[in-house]
Amino acid sequence: MTSASFIPTAVPKAAPEANVIYWFRNDLRLDDNPALTHACQHASNLVLVYCHDLVMEKMTRWNVPRTSQHRQYFLASALADLNAQLSLQDSQLLGIKGSAAERLPALARDIGATTIYCEEIAAPEEQEEVATLRAAGLTVHTVWQSSLLDPADLPFAVDALPDVFTSFRTLVERHEVQPPLPLPRPEKIPALPPTFAAVREQWNKADLLISPMLTTHAKSKLQYQVQADSRSSFPCFLPAFSGGATTASAHLQQYFERKLAHTYKLTRNGLTGADYSTKFSPWLASGAMSARSAYVALKEFEATHGANDSTYWIWFELLWRDYFRLLHLKYGRQLYLAKGLTSLPPPTHSARRFDAWCQARTGEPLVDAGMAELAATGYLSNRLRQIVASYLIHDLGCDWRAGAAWFEAQLIDYDAYSNQGNWLYISGRGTDPRNGRRFNIQKQVHDHDRDGIYQRLWNAL
Ligand code: FAD
Repeated sequence: MTSASFIPTAVPKAAPEANVIYWFRNDLRLDDNPALTHACQHASNLVLVYCHDLVMEKMTRWNVPRTSQHRQYFLASALADLNAQLSLQDSQLLGIKGSAAERLPALARDIGATTIYCEEIAAPEEQEEVATLRAAGLTVHTVWQSSLLDPADLPFAVDALPDVFTSFRTLVERHEVQPPLPLPRPEKIPALPPTFAAVREQWNKADLLISPMLTTHAKSKLQYQVQADSRSSFPCFLPAFSGGATTASAHLQQYFERKLAHTYKLTRNGLTGADYSTKFSPWLASGAMSARSAYVALKEFEATHGANDSTYWIWFELLWRDYFRLLHLKYGRQLYLAKGLTSLPPPTHSARRFDAWCQARTGEPLVDAGMAELAATGYLSNRLRQIVASYLIHDLGCDWRAGAAWFEAQLIDYDAYSNQGNWLYISGRGTDPRNGRRFNIQKQVHDHDRDGIYQRLWNAL
């Protein structure tokens, strides 16, 4: 697939349409949400929806679930927060059971809409959803908005994105490319259509709505398991670590107020605790925090308290996040092939060894500790993500796509771009100039857990 199909078309200026649908995807926020701002400007009446695709509750081809309880829990809290914010603006979120491709044409018919606005997501499944909606006769306006930098501001076309991160970063810095400023939230969310209450009632009766907003169901199911783990580096059972834009903004503020940014580079390879890295990722992945608002907070911090290597390194890591997004714009589906961007033969695989890895039973204490933490909490440090991924691919001889699927299920910060990009990188089928990373476990133990504290913490399960 070429990049052309991924470049969002500018939303045309037009007279407001009567009834329009806004479809929330991985952009669960009102602030700095250009797609939502466009929808608000172009609609007289607006229905805001989130679709919970039931495929997310099924098993994958690797015989692992598509979504873990932790991810569901975090998502449910993000949706509840979004709904609460919308209700302050006299609106509400309609939580729909089923895929967008299946349900939105029916909803559009019932409320008399022909237009949908949403964010652009350059991953294959998400592209197919939009293509199906268009094939059903709907006009779908998508807006690219999840990256820090605007692709239009780059000193090269996305097709010419350098295949090495350092070259990309150097070009961005040499040309002093700056992210656009975050947008304020829409002043007014257009009212719900007059027919909305009747349609809602009808959909509720047909059991097509998630009521009230996934939350009660997911929370009651998860309360026990999630609360059980106080060792978590991202304790999402605590109110301060729940999903949604309200906690995202409070987290950002406290992170910089406590001046943690000044030591980020020194602590970022830590394995336990809430403060060794920014912990922005779960909010960034669900869209509750925009990368641009994180960047503004970083710049304000530097202006007040001074810049150093550590503050620079937060920008550096956010550029990695952008890089994997841009790679999707350049390569699309190719990133999802077994061979990735190479012509290597398909990877080997062993379902037995993969299962042992998922269940934290490989016999390698550091790897098992990491896998235990991941399954128990839905979060894992970057260092351990690299170590366990390398071990699965290079020591256990398993298919990197199986590992990526397990991470997809488990990670509360699951993000198609970063997950796919990092797995490909470590497997040597992506853009690593060294053709993949194989981590020496003994060296990693020596460098990061010499006294065995982390291994004992998680292997004592
Ligand atoms: P920090 O170290 O504080 O970094 C700040 C921000 O920079 C992060 O929130 C993230 O947005 C970005 N960032 C940092 N490192 C990376 C990186 N290697 N790649 C891309 N962006 C980065 N990150 C996800 O958000 N979702 C994923 O699904 C995901 N899957 C991964 C799979 C593997 C195999 C590996 C090795 C890494 C993966 N990462 C993923 C990247 C990284 O591990 C996490 O972004 C990071 O650990 C999140 O914690 P943090 O917010 O405290 O990060």
